[in-house]
Amino acid sequence: MTDIKHNLKTILSSIPEHVTLVAVSKTKPVPELMEAYKAGQRVFGENKIQEMVEKYEQMPKDVQWHMIGHVQSNKVKYMAEFVSLIHGVDKLKLLKEIDKQAKKHERIIDCLLQIKIAEEDSKFGMSAKDAKTLITSSELSGLKNVCITGVMGMATFTEDNQQIEQEFKRLKHIFDELKVYSSDNCKLKTISMGMSGDYQIAIACGSTMIRVGSSIFGARNYG
Ligand SMILES: *Cc1c(COP(=O)(O)O)cnc(C)c1O
Repeated sequence: MTDIKHNLKTILSSIPEHVTLVAVSKTKPVPELMEAYKAGQRVFGENKIQEMVEKYEQMPKDVQWHMIGHVQSNKVKYMAEFVSLIHGVDKLKLLKEIDKQAKKHERIIDCLLQIKIAEEDSKFGMSAKDAKTLITSSELSGLKNVCITGVMGMATFTEDNQQIEQEFKRLKHIFDELKVYSSDNCKLKTISMGMSGDYQIAIACGSTMIRVGSSIFGARNYG
């Protein structure tokens, strides 16, 4: 058994069935993604649109591609045809562009709202208040080609597990508060939180989707 296959099996056997594993393959070459694919993995996460498009073209068509990175509006058009979930939506303006591009392909694109839960300034995301304003806005109901299906967050990069736990608990709490605002294009069910270093904590705090890269594919040189 190759390392990638072994790593996948180890992670999958340690997480509950209702938790979706996104294999974060950024910076990794297609043959390594194919190893994961052959081991049964179908959900892959990338953080750069160009790289995701190139891999989409080379990989089997039943792969579900998740955009987990920060998205620039002018690049949405390149992935609108195939992306299955965009994790990092943090502005109504971006949602409008996703809607516009999805419409051209007669699709509905699922999106998560990225909520800022970390202390660091470097992490993108909206406040809970802004997220509530967005999902209750009359403008959202006009965007027929997007559906907000959950929230996403990243904890502070720290060794302090208690701090990480507090941040994940906050995201779960925000999710529970927002969940009551359901509409045709807002159906919250997903909490995307947890990476290689903290996915066990995240699951204990209510995560339903973890984004794991280095624990599957090994350390990255960059990215
Ligand atoms: C790179 C990345 C991950 C995966 O990180 P690992 O520590 O390698 O598991 C998860 N989420 C986002 C948003 C990332 O950019």
